[in-house]
Amino acid sequence: MPLAQNKAITFNYTLKDDEGNILDTTKGSSPFSFLSGNGQILPKLEDEMSGMLLGSKKNVKIDAADAYGEYNEEAVQKVERTNFPKDVDLQPGMQFVTNSPDGHQMPFIISEIKEDDVTIDFNHPLAGKNLEFDVELLDIRDATTEEIAHGHIHGQGGHHH
Ligand SMILES: [Zn+2]
Repeated sequence: MPLAQNKAITFNYTLKDDEGNILDTTKGSSPFSFLSGNGQILPKLEDEMSGMLLGSKKNVKIDAADAYGEYNEEAVQKVERTNFPKDVDLQPGMQFVTNSPDGHQMPFIISEIKEDDVTIDFNHPLAGKNLEFDVELLDIRDATTEEIAHGHIHGQGGHHH
């Protein structure tokens, strides 16, 4: 059963890969809020949160295919150094955004630099990783008309204008 549409859901989470490395966590910062039914978090995670009681905790495992996809070797490309601004000191791990021919933003990461060649990787940084979320559901309330119109939650854990 999916969560009802247009609820403001607030939760804490810790995200780990399947080797137990912590990739992201709300510990030490604000809980995270999202508008349900709007594709703002992984669909599988949203599904798993339905039916949770307020204040309850759940461990949710999501395979790479249901998370950010399998790692795609074809999304790795070699380009010439001259494609980047001269004054930028390129380093592996740096993130850039380019536009696809149809105008979509395509983020990529520099994975290797060799003389005049730069290897760039369009895979999501979490592609190919099986993920594990420890979730604690804190609050569910109806989203305001304004939040629904904006497509995001306002206030703590959400957007600030
Ligand atoms: Zn807004």
